[in-house]
Amino acid sequence: MPVLFSLICPTCGASLQAGGTTRDILCEHCGNKYLLDQKIEQMNETEREHLSPTVTYSNKPGQWIKVAGVDVVLRKFSVEKAGKERVLFIEIEYENKTSDPLKYRHDQWIVYDKTGYTYEAVKDFSHPHLYKKEKIYLGMTRVLNPGMRLRGWLAFVLPSESDIECLQFSAGTPLKTLEFRITDQQ
Ligand SMILES: [Zn+2]
Repeated sequence: MPVLFSLICPTCGASLQAGGTTRDILCEHCGNKYLLDQKIEQMNETEREHLSPTVTYSNKPGQWIKVAGVDVVLRKFSVEKAGKERVLFIEIEYENKTSDPLKYRHDQWIVYDKTGYTYEAVKDFSHPHLYKKEKIYLGMTRVLNPGMRLRGWLAFVLPSESDIECLQFSAGTPLKTLEFRITDQQ
């Protein structure tokens, strides 16, 4: 008989059950998948109630997700033609729920394409036409004090033939990542 352990989903708070020897979990309630840094049977009860996955896999925008203590939500995304360029726009928001200042950098967000190339967001001074009034640039670096929110847009300029594999956010030491499997809608 396999021993089942009860866990709390770090995204939606649902109770989950999984075997002790696994490092992968799927939450059927919110749809997110997790890769844990150790087997569930090696964790203590507090660690099972406050899972801090090495990788969080998500394909649904609009969920607050905790990555190494950073609370972040992907609000919206779209792939648009802007002149000769193909651009992935993402709107993201942070809230600092910790009691320490939190440093944000725009290069924590990276797009992977299916051939393995990566793309960083472009800045407003090099691509001012992409950050108009309704898409305010998130900024290169910001410091969020406890309780503060930060919201804005990032634009990734991609080759016209590229296929997006995922959008990745990384934070913390040791590094934790969030992978959005976003599908190209155009
Ligand atoms: Zn969940």
